[in-house]
Amino acid sequence: MSQWIRRSTRLAVYLRDGLVCVYCGADGRHGGAVLVVDHLVPRVLGGGNDPGNLATACWTCNARRRAVPLWEFVAGLDDAEAIRRRVRNARRRALPRQEARELDQDPPDWLVALRERSDAGRRPDPLEPPSEAFHLWPVAAP
Ligand SMILES: [Zn+2]
Repeated sequence: MSQWIRRSTRLAVYLRDGLVCVYCGADGRHGGAVLVVDHLVPRVLGGGNDPGNLATACWTCNARRRAVPLWEFVAGLDDAEAIRRRVRNARRRALPRQEARELDQDPPDWLVALRERSDAGRRPDPLEPPSEAFHLWPVAAP
């Protein structure tokens, strides 16, 4: 089974979720957040790449969560109930695959910028203080 999620599928997940992190609301277009696809059930716990198991997360929340089970991660966040609602809504919606394919072929400026930030070499520097996303939804240290 392939571990790779193709680029247009990742973009479709972002579009379905409004291009914001389902956990903290960081915006991938205007706020400069680096978006990644998060596995709701982590792969190490048996989660797959089906759209119902994928959600948009910012790099900071994704790094913060690691492979912590979703219920446990969300329970530690300030606005847990709103986050549960966002995740449930995201899982119910279909992936806008066609829209993603079209944008992928002719990317607007915001998508080009998002991709550039998402490149591995441009991820947040781990030696720098965490971004504002940490401060919006502080969670207890593990
Ligand atoms: Zn986030």
